[in-house]
Amino acid sequence: MNDRKFEIGGPGANRYPVELEAPDIRPYRAGNCGIEYVSTFDSGKPGPHLMLAGLTHGNELCGAIALDWLLRQGVRPLAGRLTVAFMNVAAYARFDPANPSASRCVDEDFNRVWSAETLEGVRDSVDLRRARELRPLVDSVDALLDIHSMQHPTPPLMICGMTPKARALALGLGAPAHLVCDAGHAAGRRMRDYGAFADSASPKNALLIECGQHWARASAAVAIDATLRFLLHFGAIEQEFAAPKLAPLPASQRVVEVTEAVTIASDEFRFAAPYVGMEVIARAGTVIGHDGTRPVATPYDNCVLIMPTMRIRKGETAVRLGRIVGG
Ligand SMILES: [Zn+2]
Repeated sequence: MNDRKFEIGGPGANRYPVELEAPDIRPYRAGNCGIEYVSTFDSGKPGPHLMLAGLTHGNELCGAIALDWLLRQGVRPLAGRLTVAFMNVAAYARFDPANPSASRCVDEDFNRVWSAETLEGVRDSVDLRRARELRPLVDSVDALLDIHSMQHPTPPLMICGMTPKARALALGLGAPAHLVCDAGHAAGRRMRDYGAFADSASPKNALLIECGQHWARASAAVAIDATLRFLLHFGAIEQEFAAPKLAPLPASQRVVEVTEAVTIASDEFRFAAPYVGMEVIARAGTVIGHDGTRPVATPYDNCVLIMPTMRIRKGETAVRLGRIVGG
């Protein structure tokens, strides 16, 4: 934990150095399937349609770096079909290393619109238009890996949603060490929870990886590692192709189930300590913050703090709380 970092900047300010460079994705603009910034490769052999998604949030560079790297290697699937997609490209076009948090989205969060009601509804935005354009493609995907990063230097997390099939897939990949099983956000549905992905009866599957801090060099290596492990799992690439970039597997994987979200109710929320996420608070009743004058305490022993936010605003999720359920 780093107290100095905690003190720099006000709520929402960027406290962390930008170590990564935003890749030039313009060479991928034309794509090859009629959707800009989407490339799809069919092996001609039976197998699942795999999709790798980056830039679902326009300020999360590691996904773009992993996909750019993969495309520059000339990756082609050994079986099935592989789609490599840069998602919210309009938001990414606004990325500015001097104000790196600003390009998360254009009008609204692209990763909160993935319900039929919203996609088929009357609301309009730049981000929603892009989601509508990509929806038929996403409908044809058998397994999705959506690559993200986080505000704080939290250890990498695989976000599995609520289905046993996604948890099993994450355990099958062997990394990262932390798996989070959750119901998503009240603000709207994520792509990883869209349609059949969230239906336990469907074989379709999706994972969302949070690779580390948005601007940290290590996040890009985690994104490439996760991408390769995902492709290896489905037999889409050779071990020899992946081996030079694979990190050692963690000794074990820990599964945390989200039990509740702490939603900010006042105009003045503050954490009791500079949490970065995945801290395990031993004792129930430990005060982790104050919402106005109201203390916020952990509800049970060994409570895990998941992705505390820097966007301290009324109505936002300050942090989610989780219980360790196994590995
Ligand atoms: Zn994200």
